[in-house]
Amino acid sequence: MAMHEFQIIQSYFTLPTLRADLGVGDDCALFRVAQGHQCAVTSDMLVSGRHFFWDVDARSLGHKALAVNLSDLAAMGAEPLGFTLSLALPAVSEAWLAGFSGGLLDLAREFHCDLIGGDTTKSAASFENNGLVINITAFGQVPIGAAVRRDGAQVGDDVWVSGVLGDAARALVLLQREQSGDVLGVVEAEALLALRPRLERPTPRVALGMALRGVASSMLDLSDGFAGDVRHVLRASNVDVEIDCDVLPLSSTLKNLNLGQQCPIWHTWRDALTGGDDYELCFTSSPTQRDVLAELSSRAAVPLTRIGCVIERAGDAPNVRWCSENSPEGLMHMREWRGYNHFS
Ligand code: ADP
Ligand code: MG
Repeated sequence: MAMHEFQIIQSYFTLPTLRADLGVGDDCALFRVAQGHQCAVTSDMLVSGRHFFWDVDARSLGHKALAVNLSDLAAMGAEPLGFTLSLALPAVSEAWLAGFSGGLLDLAREFHCDLIGGDTTKSAASFENNGLVINITAFGQVPIGAAVRRDGAQVGDDVWVSGVLGDAARALVLLQREQSGDVLGVVEAEALLALRPRLERPTPRVALGMALRGVASSMLDLSDGFAGDVRHVLRASNVDVEIDCDVLPLSSTLKNLNLGQQCPIWHTWRDALTGGDDYELCFTSSPTQRDVLAELSSRAAVPLTRIGCVIERAGDAPNVRWCSENSPEGLMHMREWRGYNHFS
């Protein structure tokens, strides 16, 4: 049972590198970026009890810990190269380590992204009590000047999102209800089965992100909910947007669930716009790129939906002008909608 630090690293986190010159085992890892490229760096921390249920399936957790970082690389148009993994663990469980590293390294292999180092320490707290902390720093490469930043949106650009929105948020609500002792109805339980992978096993849109170099004028990935995240682009680009709620991409599971409960459609929009964990790409691009985008969407096998346009900044603060013909009453509720914020 009692493995020490180096056995953990050796058994679960050491494997031959595909692209790095030197991986786990020395004081530093060594890797290079291709000539004429920049290194893109991103870091994400996951804390038990805050970002995930402490007893979540370890394999899914390993997948998600890396997926959220690959999603950030995708959102810059960067190609993944490698990542470091820093772990604070309250205790050593071989079953947990095997599951976690399995999910993590499967995804790493899929995206040819090497685990090149990290750090492993013991934490004093328990799993339940924020005691499991996972930090991943990922490195990618992008041709110099080609990264798609948040500050490039132009008035007149279209606003696009990939995939569907809101599934992960609704899965979280259903799981929280289960955890608090609620028994879900048959329809809800079935919906949870369909929605849960979207929360626990997000797909980073890496190929799409890379293909959007030179096509998108600005981009970010949606991690805290569109309503909050889009404002980062508005602030950086000094513009506003108009969003047509009637065309928001929603899964049939989510739509049917709300229809079945006879909820007004804007309840579904609330999931789609204020819920986190979508890990879809949101980007702006010139209307002249619409044909290119249709082609690109079918090549990457990811649906793209044009949900609005960039407009001139009206006031001091960034503003989203929500529009709908189907549910004008829904708009009344939306003015205050924001994404998730840890310290609010
Ligand atoms: P140092 O004391 O020089 O910081 P460590 O003893 O902490 O090195 O780590 C030994 C090697 O194992 C290093 O190459 C480090 O990057 C790697 N490493 C430590 N923890 C992890 C981990 N969780 N995943 C991958 N590599 C790790
Ligand atoms: Mg160390």
